[in-house]
Amino acid sequence: MDFEFSPKAAELRQRLVEFMDERIIPAEAIYRQQMEASGDPHFHPPVIEELKAEARTRGLWNLFLPHATEWTEGLSNLDYAPLAEILGRSPLASEALNCAAPDTGNMEILTMFGTPEQQDRWLVPLLEGEIRSCFAMTEPAVASSDATNIECSIRRDGDEYVINGRKWWISGAASSRCKVAIVMGKTDPDAPTHSQQSMVLVPMDAPGLVIERALPVFGYQDREGHCELSFNDVRVPVTNLLGTEGGGFAMAQARLGPGRIHHCMRTLGAAERALELMCRRVVEREAFGKPLASQV
Ligand SMILES: Cc1cc2nc3c(=O)[nH]c(=O)nc-3n(C[C@H](O)[C@H](O)[C@H](O)COP(=O)(O)OP(=O)(O)OC[C@H]3O[C@@H](n4cnc5c(N)ncnc54)[C@H](O)[C@@H]3O)c2cc1C
Repeated sequence: MDFEFSPKAAELRQRLVEFMDERIIPAEAIYRQQMEASGDPHFHPPVIEELKAEARTRGLWNLFLPHATEWTEGLSNLDYAPLAEILGRSPLASEALNCAAPDTGNMEILTMFGTPEQQDRWLVPLLEGEIRSCFAMTEPAVASSDATNIECSIRRDGDEYVINGRKWWISGAASSRCKVAIVMGKTDPDAPTHSQQSMVLVPMDAPGLVIERALPVFGYQDREGHCELSFNDVRVPVTNLLGTEGGGFAMAQARLGPGRIHHCMRTLGAAERALELMCRRVVEREAFGKPLASQV
C-alpha cells in the first residue's frame, strides 16, 4: 500500500506547517490574553480575524471542500486528511483557515443541495468567513444518535414551514457571528422511516427561536458554545427547504461522512501535540536533582 502524500497534499502540508509555526502557535498566547480580557466565554477575539486574513493570502483557505465547485477546485478527503491532522494541533487553526465545524459540513451541503438564492444568502458569506452557522439535529428527549428518532416538527402552512421542537448540543449557536441554523425535523411522520425528515434553513434571529443556554462540556464553556435551542412556532418561507422534503436523513448522512474523518484527524493532531509537550516536559523538569525522564 502506498502511504506517500500526493504532490498536492505534500505541498499544502509544507505551507500549513510553516503557517502553524510562524503564526498560529505564537498567536495562542495572544488569543488567551484577549479571551481573558473580554470576560466573555463566547467572545470573538480579534487575533482570529488577523489569522484568517493571513491564511487567505497564503492560499490556505476553504481547503475542506472535497468536490470541485465554482468556489474552490476541491481537495479530496485523502489529501485533506493530513492537513486536518495538523490543524488539530491548535484550537485556533481550523477557524483561521475557514475549515471549522460545523460550518464545513453546512457549507458542503449548501454547495450540493442549496438553491442559487440559498447559496447567495448563506453559502457565499460562510465561504468568505464573514458569518458562522450551526447544525441543529440532536434533541434532549430522544436517542438522537439515530436521527430517525428526532421529533422536531416542520409543518407546512401555505408558503411557510412552521417549526416546533427542542434541540441541544448545538455547536456554534452561542456566537454572535452565527447567523443561520440548518434544522432537521420531520415534515411527514407517516412517511417511510428514512423519508420523514427534512432540513430547513432558519435565520438565528427568526422570531420564536430561543437560545435557552450554553451547555458546559466537562465543566468548561467552549467559545462557540454548545447550546440548547427551542423552536416555538418559528416560521420560514418554503424556499428555505434544503434539497427535497423527506431528503433530510440522506443529507445528514452525506454531511457526516467527511466530518467524521475531519474530527478523527484533528483529534490525532491534538493528541500528538499533547504527547510532544509531555515528552519535552519530562526532560526539562527536574525533581530530586535530575530530569523526570531520568527517574527510575
Ligand atoms: C461537544 C458536543 C457537540 C455537539 N454538537 C452537535 C451539533 O452541533 N449538532 C447536533 O445536532 N448535535 C451535536 N451534538 C450531539 C451529538 O451528535 C449526540 O450527542 C450524539 O449523536 C449522540 O446522541 P445522543 O446524545 O442523543 O445519545 P443517544 O442516542 O441517547 O445515545 C446514548 C448511548 O446509547 C447508545 N445507543 C443509542 N442507540 C442505541 C441502540 N439502538 N443500540 C445500542 N446502543 C444505542 C449510544 O451509542 C450511546 O452510547 C454534540 C455533542 C457534543 C457532546
